[in-house]
Amino acid sequence: AVPFDAAKVKACFPIFFDNALTRKLSYLDNAATSQKPLSVLQAMDNAVRSYCSPVHRGFYPIAEQSTQRYEQARQTLTDFISAKTSASIIFNASATDGINQIAKGFLLPRLSAGQNVWVTRMEHHANYLPWLFVCDKAGANLRIIELSDNGELDIDGAHGLFADNTAMIALSHTSNVLGTNNDVYALCKKAREHDIPILIDAAQAMVTHSLDVESLSCDFLVFSAHKMFGPTGIGLLYIAPHRLGDVQPLRLGGGMVDFTADTFAQTIWSEPPYCFEAGSPNLAGAIGFAAACEFVNAIGQHQAKQYISSLALQLYQALLDFDRVKLLTPLKHVSSGIISFYHDDIHAHDLAHIMGDAGVAVRAGHHCAQPLLAHFNVNSTVRASISVYNTPEDIVALITALRHAQTVFA
Ligand code: PMP
Repeated sequence: AVPFDAAKVKACFPIFFDNALTRKLSYLDNAATSQKPLSVLQAMDNAVRSYCSPVHRGFYPIAEQSTQRYEQARQTLTDFISAKTSASIIFNASATDGINQIAKGFLLPRLSAGQNVWVTRMEHHANYLPWLFVCDKAGANLRIIELSDNGELDIDGAHGLFADNTAMIALSHTSNVLGTNNDVYALCKKAREHDIPILIDAAQAMVTHSLDVESLSCDFLVFSAHKMFGPTGIGLLYIAPHRLGDVQPLRLGGGMVDFTADTFAQTIWSEPPYCFEAGSPNLAGAIGFAAACEFVNAIGQHQAKQYISSLALQLYQALLDFDRVKLLTPLKHVSSGIISFYHDDIHAHDLAHIMGDAGVAVRAGHHCAQPLLAHFNVNSTVRASISVYNTPEDIVALITALRHAQTVFA
């Protein structure tokens, strides 16, 4: 990676130069979705404009080109997470889609009454509800790894986590509310030793962490393109090679069987990953996803993390000066660039509105993490989430808007 040049990085994102509204935008809602660099937009435009045709379904030249480029994109993703084989790389709709596939297509058929499925207190609803659903169906128990006072997982307090009756563990790499990075390497290693399947939700991790699924030794990993500079509508499900035969495809349709006839028993699934990709593949999405990986690689996750971390620290320290502001994010984990806080006197939605009017885009609400907010006994927080195109001026803009909000509500 070349040295990080903040102005150059920002210049890659056309939105910040587009119109009067976006030119002065301090976009601090990156944990919800990220902006897209020109390279991603151009790759997608080219796919639709120059070789639009069905993937895996045509014998004429542009159809062969679209198939080849789609499979090249899969190879880019294979390399991006250092997977051993591209059979493990399944393009789907999103992180949410991948977790549902594993909960319902892998766990549910093997889950028995009385078994335990473990998640954590800090999960996004996407990594909570599918497990709650399958536990309910099977009469199993959803168990929760709670938080310590420092905002980290209390692994020692999770009695029975690696016991024989644990059917599955699912946790996020990085919390979308707290920014806490969990020690997924240690947990996956331990799960592997006990032969317990483990899924990692890496939705918030891909910009700042270079993940290697082989050394991570997870069974499943999911993330979405749109949170790492790629398009919405496409995500990735990684299934470790030794689990590929254990997952039942949920989406049934075109392109996923080698043979079918009048009875279900006669049906022969295609090899993975194709058996998990029913329907016409999302060509432009996959091309944009791969271009996003290349963009992340060009910056380097380590450099991205350092830059994001420096801005996050600036914000964190500035927020400490407000005695009515309470921070949920642990200082130790600001490197994720996700900072959640609330104000004792001003509702988070009011703060977000005032900030929005000042050109500062933040998120306010429960962030699809109600079990976590209940733990803190709050209904909503303001979340500022920082990315590579943010600047110190964006942080100042947020703080100025916060000061203004205090005068409005004084
Ligand atoms: N997990 C985490 C930690 C997230 O932050 C999100 C998105 N906010 C998701 C899962 C779901 O991602 P998507 O909506 O792209 O499926």
